[in-house]
Amino acid sequence: MGFLKRRRPAGLPIDWREQAATSVTWFDPMVADEQERIGELAQRFLTEKDWEAANGFALTDEIRLTISLQAALLVLGLTFDHYRMVKTIIVHPTTMVWRGERAGPVPGLRTDAPLSLLGQAAHAGGPVVIAWDEARRNARHPEHGHDVVLHELAHKLDMLDHVVDGTPPLDTQAEHDRWVQVCTAEFEAIRGGDNGDLLWDYAGQDPGEFFAVATEVFFDRPQDLRAHNADLYDILSSFYRQDPAAIT
Ligand SMILES: [Zn+2]
Repeated sequence: MGFLKRRRPAGLPIDWREQAATSVTWFDPMVADEQERIGELAQRFLTEKDWEAANGFALTDEIRLTISLQAALLVLGLTFDHYRMVKTIIVHPTTMVWRGERAGPVPGLRTDAPLSLLGQAAHAGGPVVIAWDEARRNARHPEHGHDVVLHELAHKLDMLDHVVDGTPPLDTQAEHDRWVQVCTAEFEAIRGGDNGDLLWDYAGQDPGEFFAVATEVFFDRPQDLRAHNADLYDILSSFYRQDPAAIT
């Protein structure tokens, strides 16, 4: 009997820790048991969800791993079951341009102007669509406060109660009331146009986009978000059961 090479279950590459240390900036500073939990969650995301590439594009280990790691970060304090609305991830090489006719910026008028989309998770049960070049850049540069993977998956958490209204399922009515109060105040400030540039204008589109954008900033620039609006940081911290401002 020789040494049997132990086969790792299909999914994470054997050197996933080294890859994680270079592809996502938040991995290295984590404590060992958090890294272990990230690995478990990423493994499940990678193997239990369906992956598709856009026409003419091929998925690589790096693509699947980076997106799965970001997915793991979002639910590190929650459960993998929070991704039950996620079935399929479709990866495009770069920003998609949507040319279909749709409602335009002027009420009642339709437009067919090309619309650039970094990602999409608009329909319950529909796929999560990710632009890879953006996802890759975001994972390495959190200082910009954008993360397309966290954004689209936040929409999927929002959908858990079957409405995309910027409020994911919360445990108590008191938490729900506080959530609505804190988010509405910030949302109105953004729409008023006098709110600094931490939460980008797109957050003022509707409450669903507000939650997705706030999630990006919560994970990417937690200390800035806490300084900007401690109540908003606090409710996100309670929901995600994470305190990223304390780590970085
Ligand atoms: Zn969105």
